[in-house]
Amino acid sequence: MLTRIKVPERSEGFLYRAKLAITVLIVIANESEVKLFFKCDIIKMMKIACPPKPWRRWEEKLPGVQKNIPLSRFTTFRIGGKARYFFDAKTKEDIIKALKAAKELGLPFFILGAGSNVLVSDKGFDGLVIKIRNSKLEIKNFDDEFNFICDAGVSLAKIVSETLKLSATGFEWAAGIPGALGGAIYGNAGAFGKSMRDSIETVEVYKLDNDDVLILQNKDCEFNYRESIFKKNKELIIISAVLNFKKGDRDRIEKEIKEKI
Ligand SMILES: Cc1cc2nc3c(=O)[nH]c(=O)nc-3n(C[C@H](O)[C@H](O)[C@H](O)COP(=O)(O)OP(=O)(O)OC[C@H]3O[C@@H](n4cnc5c(N)ncnc54)[C@H](O)[C@@H]3O)c2cc1C
Repeated sequence: MLTRIKVPERSEGFLYRAKLAITVLIVIANESEVKLFFKCDIIKMMKIACPPKPWRRWEEKLPGVQKNIPLSRFTTFRIGGKARYFFDAKTKEDIIKALKAAKELGLPFFILGAGSNVLVSDKGFDGLVIKIRNSKLEIKNFDDEFNFICDAGVSLAKIVSETLKLSATGFEWAAGIPGALGGAIYGNAGAFGKSMRDSIETVEVYKLDNDDVLILQNKDCEFNYRESIFKKNKELIIISAVLNFKKGDRDRIEKEIKEKI
């Protein structure tokens, strides 16, 4: 037998939703007598009466996203309040998925590399922090040259140590500078008269505004003293880059690196 239920007349506002929610509860209390086709209506009504909380929407769109994470854990200066949402992006796909989720849900985002060049307010960040952790590094050798195909999350220290192993020259200046590749390209990091611009061949970027992955040539990156196109256009997110180094003298490279650390 079907339970008779008086569904409130449709109207806008809180009162209608409250009445509807009570009706749904009555229906659920009698659920054993509710026929299958009617259950679909209950689910629909529940969705109207109890829309999912923003946090639930985030979990569905971006599995693995964390809430209220202290950013002091991720910055060199160990200061900063909490990120409302925080996501560890371990692959290119993770980075893109997180950016798309932020865009779709209309929440501000912040890209965090190794956190050596950011000062986070004690108030924290009321949006999504995407921690760049992709870390693939592939090396190709052509005669007396090397191409390093590096993810944005690879540390500068790792690149320096790999160049030393191969006696590749051109990155000695970066010894002792904290940070990861993405942050270094963003700010065209440099020292001793050299900078990222001198080693970059191409940069792979995700362009958020038109959902596209592009390869920028060195000249397209508009590198200048601690400047780049990425500082001017926050819709361009660095995914990876190709760096070029020449074969050099191992002893000289090692000496230069040791002097800088
Ligand atoms: C002790 C010390 C010494 C330093 N010495 C030098 C030096 O000699 N020369 C020098 O140039 N700098 C120096 N720095 C600054 C810093 O180390 C560099 O700027 C470093 O390259 C920043 O990289 P990061 O990964 O820490 O970036 P973060 O600090 O995490 O981020 C810096 C900026 O880059 C953006 N960003 C990071 N990753 C990406 C990405 N994938 N796509 C788009 N945007 C991104 C962030 O949103 C942020 O705006 C020094 C810092 C410290 C603490």
